[in-house]
Amino acid sequence: MTQDMKVFENLESVVRSYVRSFPTIFTKAKGYKMWDENGKEYIDFFAGAGALNYGHNDQKMKEKLVEYIMSDGITHSLDMASTAKAEFLNKFNDVILKPRNLDYKIMFPGPTGTNTVESALKLARKVTGRTDVISFTNGFHGMTIGSLSVTGNSMKRKGAGIPLQNTVTMPYDNYVDNHDTLEYVERFLEDSGSGVAIPAAMIVETVQGEGGINAARFEWLRKLESICKRWGILLIIDDVQAGVGRTGTFFSFERAGIKPDIICMSKSLSGYGLPFAVTLIRPDLDIWTPGEHNGTFRGNNHAFITAAASLDYWKDDTFEKEVQAKSEMIYQFLTKMVETYPELKGEVRGRGFMVGIASEVDGLSNKISAKAFELGLIMETAGPKDEVFKLFPPLTISEEGLKKGFEIIEESIKSLVK
Ligand code: PMP
Repeated sequence: MTQDMKVFENLESVVRSYVRSFPTIFTKAKGYKMWDENGKEYIDFFAGAGALNYGHNDQKMKEKLVEYIMSDGITHSLDMASTAKAEFLNKFNDVILKPRNLDYKIMFPGPTGTNTVESALKLARKVTGRTDVISFTNGFHGMTIGSLSVTGNSMKRKGAGIPLQNTVTMPYDNYVDNHDTLEYVERFLEDSGSGVAIPAAMIVETVQGEGGINAARFEWLRKLESICKRWGILLIIDDVQAGVGRTGTFFSFERAGIKPDIICMSKSLSGYGLPFAVTLIRPDLDIWTPGEHNGTFRGNNHAFITAAASLDYWKDDTFEKEVQAKSEMIYQFLTKMVETYPELKGEVRGRGFMVGIASEVDGLSNKISAKAFELGLIMETAGPKDEVFKLFPPLTISEEGLKKGFEIIEESIKSLVK
């Protein structure tokens, strides 16, 4: 039976958002494709806002999950020990941490990105005994009071209904052209005369997703790390969106050569679009008292199964190389769009598969996204004024799929600027 879009208007809270941007009822998805109830096919350049880096319904993960379900494997166990959990812990350590020379304790903070950020902020305060946290302009970290208080988006902050406290917002890299914004951060920390409190932590995305696909330079990240070390401030990297290969390496900070104190991961970590998050903690900082941060839905066993299977993509560097080669195709396409259509007043932004075009023309990116949707491509916008159209295909997309998506984007641009 087909459904009426009116059901959402009538029954769902006005807070609903994506249902407005992509107004159709979806029924099915595989790889980089989605279908709606009218049988219309869409190319997915959205990938669940970064939760579907391996595409929809990956065959191998699906088979493992079905096999597990059919064998009556544990579904819910709070954080009790299970074979699924042991498999994930071992594989994450063997395939991801050890080869990168990384040593972290793995915490299950709750099912979402917001949960991992919340746990990181709490732990940093507990470890240092300090209150404030430095975050950055246009950063996005989540929707609870704690994670929202480090989110640099005034529209989202209004959702809290009250002013949010204990955070200091500093300018992100490239916030001011040709200016090293970290000099400003250091000056601020040195200014004890005006009563500046040394913060517990700094929280940062290496590439800002929701904030407009702003990529921090690797030197900037290295300098940020050294400032944190100098002042005994914990460095929290929020890899919820930029992690799990999105920028071309498993962790987004790998090529910068830094070692964060705490890492937040979620979105694509389950591999299959299931709610799942981890907080990676430098072992000596893992000072929680047992039970101090708990929750009913920590460590989803189905997600352990699919996440463990997804890590096979990272057993050697084949997948990483493929992702990097396809990133180059995307980058070349975007550069060509900016050059061919000067009316866009566009700038190519991002890194790897986390890229987009920022258009200076008011409202144009939203129009491009809407037109693309009409033509069968799902692509969202980002940035404080929705000025960026954001290309977020699954990392597993074929070259053919990419090219089809590029055609629709060019067609959409052409129809709006010519
Ligand atoms: N951090 C970052 C960088 C994010 O992009 C997001 C989600 N867009 C979050 C945290 C919050 O994750 P969730 O929506 O799963 O709570």
